[in-house]
Amino acid sequence: MFTESLVKLGKVRSEIREIFEYGNKRKKEIGEENVFDFSIGNPSVPAPESVDKAIMDLVNNYDSVKLHGYTSAQGDAEVRGSIADYINNRFKTEITADNIYMTCGAASSLTIIFNAILQKDDECIVFTPYFPEYGVFMERTGAKLVECKSDENTLQIDFDELEKVITEKTKAVVINSPNNPSGVVYTEETIEKLSKKLKEKEEEYGHSIFLISDEPYRELVYDGQELPYLINYYDNTFVCYSYSKALSLPGERIGYIVVSPKMKDEKDAYAAICGSGRALGYVCASSMYQRVIEKCLDDTADTSIYKKNRDLLYNALTDMGFDCIYPDGAFYLFMKSKGEDARAFCEKAKEFELLLVPADSFGTPGFVRIGYCVKTEQIENALPAFEKLAQAYK
Ligand code: PLP
Repeated sequence: MFTESLVKLGKVRSEIREIFEYGNKRKKEIGEENVFDFSIGNPSVPAPESVDKAIMDLVNNYDSVKLHGYTSAQGDAEVRGSIADYINNRFKTEITADNIYMTCGAASSLTIIFNAILQKDDECIVFTPYFPEYGVFMERTGAKLVECKSDENTLQIDFDELEKVITEKTKAVVINSPNNPSGVVYTEETIEKLSKKLKEKEEEYGHSIFLISDEPYRELVYDGQELPYLINYYDNTFVCYSYSKALSLPGERIGYIVVSPKMKDEKDAYAAICGSGRALGYVCASSMYQRVIEKCLDDTADTSIYKKNRDLLYNALTDMGFDCIYPDGAFYLFMKSKGEDARAFCEKAKEFELLLVPADSFGTPGFVRIGYCVKTEQIENALPAFEKLAQAYK
């Protein structure tokens, strides 16, 4: 009677949500301060003051009917124009309002793009470790998600592995830098090599291969690295930007897609994005939040707190003998589990009220993800529990 695959999807929570729900239950039992929940990527840093100010300004001074009314399906033209100007200024690009499509965050951007470009039996490459929801977002296209193993030590792209998995059926490649769950940031060299490889493959196969840059963590880099802007490197690029982490607005659902102006058949590509958003019933992104972010384009939440958390957690855990990947960005620490079975390791961690996520569903068994987007105090209080966990494996 119901669509079986969707009933299943509705019943089986993602592993992250499962642990998060367990954490909520446990907090009720033993008190919030006694549970060290590192499971979910919900920012703990408040949105900057400019967001509150923009909301107040809009509520007090803007036409209320317009503020809460539908906008154009692709987003308000003025807002899209402001975003285009901002991107052009910052990244020396030449995009216009008609390259931007406003969305309800990166999740909907990805779903819209996958549905616009992937057909049955197409292949879409993702690099391990990757955000497990990619599989869910593309499932109904009938396309196949193909994992490409990253370099074991650096988690940068392993081009020998890419050569093994790329085929004539490859229609798209997704990158996510800074990465969830590893915090790894792709170097410019990696991006240049990837662009060159994809161009060669497009010529060899005689069709476009789309590069999808999923970048909700773009503003979360800690050591002054400059992140390459993908449309300056590869023509057939879609960028998925989101304000969920940058402005700490994950529940407000606001972001956008950029369709590169240099994309082959750019106008049809943009039409496919609009058509896909329409077919999926998105109607338009939040009218009020389109206008809020327009007023906060060059602001971010205070990311220095995440840097402080990263330094504290990385240094403490490596001192305890845990093997961690140094995260240049995002707000996750990727750590090797003690013992090969990361799920068993996370169960052990629960004995000390530490809630960590096994990375099996990210395509990397043997690792765990620790979300450090929490209050610094939580990390300080959790360190003795991590020490006990380390001792349990000595
Ligand atoms: N992509 C990655 C890699 C993420 O980590 C997330 C959220 O955590 C998303 C996409 C979805 O983000 P949004 O809240 O913008 O939909």
